[in-house]
Amino acid sequence: MPQANKPSLEKLQALRGMADLLPSQTSLWQQIEVKAREHFHRSVISELRTPLLEQTQLFSRGIGEATDVVGKEMYSFLDKGDRSCTLRPEGTASVVRASIQHGLLKQGPQRFWYSGPMFRYERPQAGRQRQFHQIGLEYLGFNNPCSDIEVISIAWDLLEDLGLTDLTLELNSLGSNEDRVTYREALLSWLEERKNDLDPDSLNRLYTNPLRILDSKVKSTQTLLREAPTLSEYLSADSINRFERVKTGLEALEIPYTLNPRLVRGLDYYSHTAFEITSSQLGSQSTVCGGGRYDKLIEQLGGPSTPAIGWAIGMERLALLLTQNNPVPNKSIPEIYIVNRGVTAEPFAIVVGRLLRQSNHKVELDLSGSAFSKQLKRADRSGARWALLIGDNEAEEEKVILKDLKTIPSKDSQEEPIKLEILMRQFN
Ligand code: ATP
Ligand code: MG
Repeated sequence: MPQANKPSLEKLQALRGMADLLPSQTSLWQQIEVKAREHFHRSVISELRTPLLEQTQLFSRGIGEATDVVGKEMYSFLDKGDRSCTLRPEGTASVVRASIQHGLLKQGPQRFWYSGPMFRYERPQAGRQRQFHQIGLEYLGFNNPCSDIEVISIAWDLLEDLGLTDLTLELNSLGSNEDRVTYREALLSWLEERKNDLDPDSLNRLYTNPLRILDSKVKSTQTLLREAPTLSEYLSADSINRFERVKTGLEALEIPYTLNPRLVRGLDYYSHTAFEITSSQLGSQSTVCGGGRYDKLIEQLGGPSTPAIGWAIGMERLALLLTQNNPVPNKSIPEIYIVNRGVTAEPFAIVVGRLLRQSNHKVELDLSGSAFSKQLKRADRSGARWALLIGDNEAEEEKVILKDLKTIPSKDSQEEPIKLEILMRQFN
């Protein structure tokens, strides 16, 4: 028969900036997630899961129109009902929305954590993707500087417990809203005198949101800003006092920090404490964890005036750091490998495998139907401690042959078939 000409299909690929997590990576991700859950559990923090898709308004009102995230990076579209929807670029706004919507703030202060994918249309590079993942923490209804210290220490301890060294905690105070109004004027007039030296992006922000310019990634602008007035010179006595208490608390916990007066963070809602945890091993995408206080956000999103603070860890960057330190991927290793072949043997092997799994053993069942010798080689390669050999003869008598793969057999040692009940007694 003549072969029909197949149309040449373009190879299907994931979208740019959207990565698959392969089995060589997922075991590390799971370890991180387990560890994070343990830390949250020990601090009595509850998990909150919110939708990936929200009304666009939530982010434009919450994060701020003049930020990169809202201005350029959002995945927004109209749904079939002509509603403007956005794939969440971060978690805080959604956590706040859910807390207001379900009246959770009426029940007193709340401690929440979340994790999952976030979406930002950015230029993909190492440690920067369009779909990335965060684990985050939000403390809603806490004003005491001690809450800042607790929140920061949870991030610090988690990262340390995961085995990261070379971490730096960069710390700043963005002061109160009133402090920032005074500072904004000072910064604006300083920048106006240097208009010609600003990059086009920063120039655009001069009158909309000059503080954003401090977050510019453009080298020439960063150099220029080294001489700019800093917020710390404009903090009120109350704000300074508050910041001192946070610093003293961190010192008591022996968490080292570096003051960074230019740290403003990428979102507009921060006030007072702002921080980043960076690693020198990450190159230019050096921030693993970013966070800060956002005392006005909840009110801005229609809730009761509630102070709050939180952070988010970037999973990709964290995983990158951990694989740099420990390049061996953890392969999933079975405890028992079942070698089986034959019309009676194969269905019996499934029964045996299921029984063992029900007794909590990790079992890999060979499904190839290939020659015993081939299956045995695979059993060896799998790293399993035990192999079970099942042929039709064994199956007919409900027996199996148990082979220890880790001890070297003596020449005339021959494993005898044993009854399934005896095997199960041994593995119980
Ligand atoms: P950056 O300055 O690196 O863009 P950001 O200030 O935009 O970070 P946040 O919104 O505070 O970051 O998010 C917290 C953390 O999430 C970051 O410190 C980083 O680890 C991670 N993160 C943010 N954007 C991305 C991305 N596009 N790809 C991978 N991780 C990201
Ligand atoms: Mg960013």
